[in-house]
Amino acid sequence: MAQPGAYSGGPPQPWNPGMGGAIPQDMRQGQGPPRAPAGGGPPPPPPPQMQGMPRFSGYEQVGGFDQMAYMPPPPPPPPPQDPPPMEFTDIAQLDAQGCKAAMLQYVSENCCYGSKPAKEMTITNHKGITALHYILETFGESRSTGYKTEPYKGGFVDGPENGPPPPPWAIPCQPDSMFKDDTKKIEVPHTASVKPCHSCHARGWDLCWRCHGWGQVICTQCDGRGFKHITDPQGNPTTVVCSCGGDGKERCTTCGGDGRITCDTCKGYAQLKCFIQLKVKYDNHKDDHILERSDLPDELVRQVGGKLIFEQVLPMVPPIVAYPVKEINDNSIRLVNKHRGAWPNERCLSQRQTLRGVPVTEVNYTWENVNSRFWVYGFERKVYCPDYPQQCCCGCSVL
Ligand SMILES: [Zn+2]
Ligand SMILES: [Zn+2]
Ligand SMILES: [Zn+2]
Repeated sequence: MAQPGAYSGGPPQPWNPGMGGAIPQDMRQGQGPPRAPAGGGPPPPPPPQMQGMPRFSGYEQVGGFDQMAYMPPPPPPPPPQDPPPMEFTDIAQLDAQGCKAAMLQYVSENCCYGSKPAKEMTITNHKGITALHYILETFGESRSTGYKTEPYKGGFVDGPENGPPPPPWAIPCQPDSMFKDDTKKIEVPHTASVKPCHSCHARGWDLCWRCHGWGQVICTQCDGRGFKHITDPQGNPTTVVCSCGGDGKERCTTCGGDGRITCDTCKGYAQLKCFIQLKVKYDNHKDDHILERSDLPDELVRQVGGKLIFEQVLPMVPPIVAYPVKEINDNSIRLVNKHRGAWPNERCLSQRQTLRGVPVTEVNYTWENVNSRFWVYGFERKVYCPDYPQQCCCGCSVL
């Protein structure tokens, strides 16, 4: 292991205000302490020069400082010859008693709904429908690289003397869990070097942006005059010396009077470690199709539990073609084709397709000569009843 001999001399110390004596007089800008800017902050530091940065084989397309460039993924493996057989599960349905129980539960959860119609209603008809929910997920990984800097605080530097860097797609990295978005950042081995901070010219400090090095700004109380006009307790106008002491200046609060501030780029350490950073991004692309033939709003099906009819996880899934409902097959083909090659910067790690059956029961009822409908849906037996007879938002007069 090579030691960073060039950076010897004990662990680096960050610069702090007051260190190394006073600020050189000729560094101050302007004729005297300036008027402090009303707001804002320091101007952004310039990016480091790419000139002279070490270059590495396999990283010809690396981005510049803080600019990540995609690394083309390796070609996908050939699709499997024999996709595994698909077997689909059947779904059960709800009876009239179950429909009414669900309605009573629904009314009790909505405290301002009167329970009278729910208790007295007669269920005249109920029809079970299975809503189908097809989901396709493509879990992909992209890798991008760019140069980064961080304050060098001492310690081992893994530079090119330790060998060539591994290619971007050969660096080991795993997502925390499959089918979940995630981002990981890794220092590419053997790409680090230490160089003087470009932002502060390796001093560790910058001239204070607020007082331009003077340590003082024009007093905001008296605007530099040194005195103030006030009204004395007897009501007579009078002139008093300002709290700044009369010289019209006040200590700069940004630098504490030093005239210098710690460099934000190197955090005062004066040296930067430069290296190539690998950013590994995991993206789960999800698409779905809902087949629901009643007047229940389709999107409600997405949020509730159902029965798993079919699930498949493969490096690349083949579309469902043999399900007895044609619309499901058609949409499986449509979505699988849509996902194929949709993310050219990504390597596809895995695909998952899921077909769920969500029970939906359409219920007709009568109550006080009104005929209407409601729906019970999902394993949770949620109720959708847009025209429930007694929905009062104050809950006091309905019973
Ligand atoms: Zn200052
Ligand atoms: Zn003053
Ligand atoms: Zn610096």
